[in-house]
Amino acid sequence: MPRTVLVTGGNRGIGLAIAQEFAKQGDRVAVTHRGSGAPDGLFGVQCDITDSAAVDAAFTTVEAELGPVEVLVANAGITDDTLLLRMSEEQFTRVLDTNLTGAFRCAKRASAKMLRAKWGRIIFISSVVGLYGGPGQVNYAASKAGLVGMARSITRELGSRNITANVVAPGFIETDMTDALPEARRAEIINAVPAGRLAQASEVAAAVTWLAGDSAAYVSGAVIPVDGGLGMGH
Ligand code: NDP
Repeated sequence: MPRTVLVTGGNRGIGLAIAQEFAKQGDRVAVTHRGSGAPDGLFGVQCDITDSAAVDAAFTTVEAELGPVEVLVANAGITDDTLLLRMSEEQFTRVLDTNLTGAFRCAKRASAKMLRAKWGRIIFISSVVGLYGGPGQVNYAASKAGLVGMARSITRELGSRNITANVVAPGFIETDMTDALPEARRAEIINAVPAGRLAQASEVAAAVTWLAGDSAAYVSGAVIPVDGGLGMGH
């Protein structure tokens, strides 16, 4: 049965691959963007997830056009890397406000309608950095680790209402975010990944669409790494 799916940051990168995979399955898919518009075939809604009123308005628009959001993929995220001693409080809180509080705003807004429908799927896009840390990434790692606690608390609160909350933790994926890495760092990463390569965004999308489906109804509070084995042994 087609569902209404909202993917934050679904205008490009991993979010776009996720949105396209849901669309391929026949779901009604909305994506948020911050002004770039939505790719063809996807319903776009402008929204900055650091703004609660904008989040509320985006959900209201999606509900009016496609119906209540049944699957939320909280994917939008940013990095702002620098070593701890150089990191300003503003750099820390800005990353938290987007990656963690932004996901909270969306999950809270989505869960009201999911509770009414007695069905819902919430999927947070975290990162291996949230599980194992990363140098220069205190802000990013804290934000991404926070998503795990949030998913598990939602599972405890809403699990009995057919609402699941899970985390997908990608390793290194070919997107604008990793294109920005210096060549030496990129080579270092490829060397450390047992799979010997970066992943395609579609490989993350496959895990997300599975979690959103009926066959994953008994999977909640889980963290699914899509990292080519990078996290093994930690
Ligand atoms: P990109 O940098 O390619 O895209 C980021 C997306 O987030 C864009 O759609 C961007 O919108 C959106 N976004 C950022 N800030 C906001 C905001 N305040 N409000 C609304 N939307 C916002 O990232 P990726 O596709 O690489 O990453 C997607 C997710 O996956 C992120 O959460 C990232 O942390 C995570 N991840 C990525 C990995 C990778 O290797 N690429 C590895 C592990 C996790 P806009 O176009 O308007 O800027």
